[in-house]
Amino acid sequence: MSKQVWERVLVTGAAGFLGSHLCDALLAEGASVVGVDNLATGSLDNLKHLASESRFTYEQADICRPFDYGEVDYVFNFASPASPEDYMRLGPETLRVGSDGTVNALEVAKRYDAGFLHASTSECYGDPLQHPQTEAYWGNVNPIGPRSVYDEAKRFSEATIMAYHRYYRMRTGMVRIFNTYGPRLQPNDGRVISNLMMQALRREPLTIYGEGKQTRSFCYVSDLVRGIVALAHSGEPLPTNIGNPQEWTILDCAKTVLKVTGVDVPITFKPMPEDDPKQRRPDITKARELLGWEPQVPLREGLQKSLEYFQSKVQ
Ligand code: UDP
Repeated sequence: MSKQVWERVLVTGAAGFLGSHLCDALLAEGASVVGVDNLATGSLDNLKHLASESRFTYEQADICRPFDYGEVDYVFNFASPASPEDYMRLGPETLRVGSDGTVNALEVAKRYDAGFLHASTSECYGDPLQHPQTEAYWGNVNPIGPRSVYDEAKRFSEATIMAYHRYYRMRTGMVRIFNTYGPRLQPNDGRVISNLMMQALRREPLTIYGEGKQTRSFCYVSDLVRGIVALAHSGEPLPTNIGNPQEWTILDCAKTVLKVTGVDVPITFKPMPEDDPKQRRPDITKARELLGWEPQVPLREGLQKSLEYFQSKVQ
């Protein structure tokens, strides 16, 4: 595996939680970075520390329209609403960015013979009947349910990218990202970690949907970004899971939030949202073998590292 050196890379969704951390990692590798975002769910706050970074440029644009910011040797396609609350609010926009947006980003990579990595998702597995989920699993997705705007957009993106790989021989790849958390997660995006951390710090009851027996596997953002950059360097074209295989019930996750924040508030139980996956855990054998990648930050430690950020967001 020969590691490519990138001179100038494009990141769509650069003002988002993952996009902004990815920009930091790419700048640290020595690349110049062009970040694009339409701020539908991203925030310029996530990029403000790069204001005096001469190798970073920011373009405010919607990638659903064709775009071109000059020659690049790699494209990271990270633009999309990603929290269930955001993508259900922005359903048509989510479908468009996962279809038109992905095509436009691919066209840029094609024009400049650049590599391409797409932020795909564990949602491709839907409410999985195979546990843990390997990349070979085709998934159990409701194509018309409330989550379909996100799940099917991401699955369409995967199909489109494979077509560009097969028909145009492009160097493409895709990462299936599992639940990720850390600083810059929007405090009000409705996700479980942001909700529980903000509720605890505001001394409000923690909201658990259903009985809290459903499971998720939470990856700290620095582990995820390290895996993504390694995957891009590898040139692997087929989907690769990157996530932390340590699986938590949502109830245990809430108890960990209480421990880390050191607060004592009640837990309230709310109705389970429609089509909420009952279990989710990545099989990361492929990433381990292909990239030698392994997550290093357990949930409790990652929440500790995120505490200061969430505290800064409490009014
Ligand atoms: N959840 C919860 N309380 C909240 C927010 C979410 O119990 O305040 C649950 C949600 O029903 C789901 C899990 O936590 O089972 C993870 O939800 P999230 O929105 O973070 O993302 P998902 O993994 O469902 O895409």
